[in-house]
Amino acid sequence: MDGERWTLDVSTVILHDKLFTPGPVEVSEKTMAAFSRPMIGHRGEAFKTLYRSIHPQLQELFGTKQPVFLSTSSAWGVMEAAIRNLVRQRVLCCMCGAFSDKWIEVARRCGKEAEPLQAGWGEAIDHKALDRQLATGKFDAVALIHNETSTGVMNPLPEICCTMAKYPDVALIVDSVSSFSAVPIPMDASLIDVLLTGSQKALALPPGFALFSVSEKAFARAAQTTGRGYYFDFLEFKKQQEGDMTPTTPSIGHIYALQSKLEEIFAEGLTNRYARHARTNALVHDWVRERGFDFFAAEGHRALSLTCVKNNRGIDVAKLVRDLREKHHLVIDGGYGKLKGQTFRVSNMGDETEETVSHLLGCLDDCLLAQGVP
Ligand SMILES: *Cc1c(COP(=O)(O)O)cnc(C)c1O
Repeated sequence: MDGERWTLDVSTVILHDKLFTPGPVEVSEKTMAAFSRPMIGHRGEAFKTLYRSIHPQLQELFGTKQPVFLSTSSAWGVMEAAIRNLVRQRVLCCMCGAFSDKWIEVARRCGKEAEPLQAGWGEAIDHKALDRQLATGKFDAVALIHNETSTGVMNPLPEICCTMAKYPDVALIVDSVSSFSAVPIPMDASLIDVLLTGSQKALALPPGFALFSVSEKAFARAAQTTGRGYYFDFLEFKKQQEGDMTPTTPSIGHIYALQSKLEEIFAEGLTNRYARHARTNALVHDWVRERGFDFFAAEGHRALSLTCVKNNRGIDVAKLVRDLREKHHLVIDGGYGKLKGQTFRVSNMGDETEETVSHLLGCLDDCLLAQGVP
C-alpha cells in the first residue's frame, strides 16, 4: 500500500462450505472480487457510466424495452413495492408454497385487500382457476411466483399470461427470484407488468439486492395509486433511471458484481446459459430417479434451476445434510418450513456445471451409503 492506492489481495483462498442450497447460492471468487472494488459516489459520472453500461444487457435479460431498476433491498422489498404501487382495489395472490403463501400476508399488511388462489404444495397454479377468479371482476392485480422455490414447482407462465391477456385492466406481478436468467422469461411478450428478481439465487450474486422492471401500464397505474411511499416509489425509480441513477444510495458493490456477472452471462450466451441449466437439472433428475426417490413437484411443473426431492425412502435428511457438509464441505437444504425432513432441495443455479453437479451427486451417494442406503 502506498497510502493512496490499494489493491485487493484475491490470492487468499478462503476455505468454506460450498452452497448448493436454493438460495443463497455459491458466489464465485471473480464475482466477490468485483463486489469488493473501491467505492465511487453514486451521483458522479463514474456511477452513471456504470449503470448506463449494464442497462442494455439487463433489458435483454428481462426481455423488455422498459427501464430496469436496481433496488438495494432483498426481493421482498420489491414484492412489497409492487403491491403498494399497483394494487388499488384487491390483489389475487397465487399461492402454492412457502414463498407464494406469504404474499397474501404482505399485501394485507400493506393495507390492501387480498384473496388467495391456493394450489396444494407441489402443485402448480391452474390457469383455468385463475380465469374463474378474474372473471368475478374483483381484482386489479395478480401476484405470481414463477418458481416456487420451497416446492421446486415452476408455474406455467405461458398459460397464465394467455389468461391474463383476457383481462387488460389487471396487472400481473411476477417474482422470478429462482428462475431469472436460468430460463427465458420475456417480460414484454408475456405482458408482465412487474418482473422482479433477487441477487442471491439464479444470478449467483451476494444477497441483499434486487432487480426489477415495470411496464407502461404499471407506471400509469402507479401514478394513480396513493401510499406508494418514497423508497420504493416506481415513479421515483423511473425519474432517476432516466439520469442513470437510483433514488437513494445503492449498494455499489452489488452493481459491480452484477456488471461482472453480466459480462460472464453474455460471454456464455443466453441460449447456452439456459441449455446449461437444463443439462445440470437433468443430471439431478436422473440421479433422483436412479436412486429411487420421487419428486415433490408435480410432473410437467418441475423447476429447471433447483430440485425438491421427496424423502419417500425415509432417509435421515438432517444427517445427510450434516454429513455432506462435514465430509465434503458441500451444503444442500434439508427441506423448507413444514417440508423439513420430508424433502431435501438441491440447486443447480448460478455457475454450476455438469462437472460440479456430478461431483455433488457423487458426494450425496457417499453420504447415503454411510447411512446404509444403497
Ligand atoms: C428466496 C425467495 C424470495 C425471498 O427473497 P429475499 O431475498 O429473502 O427477499 C422470494 N421469492 C422467491 C421465489 C424466492 O425463492
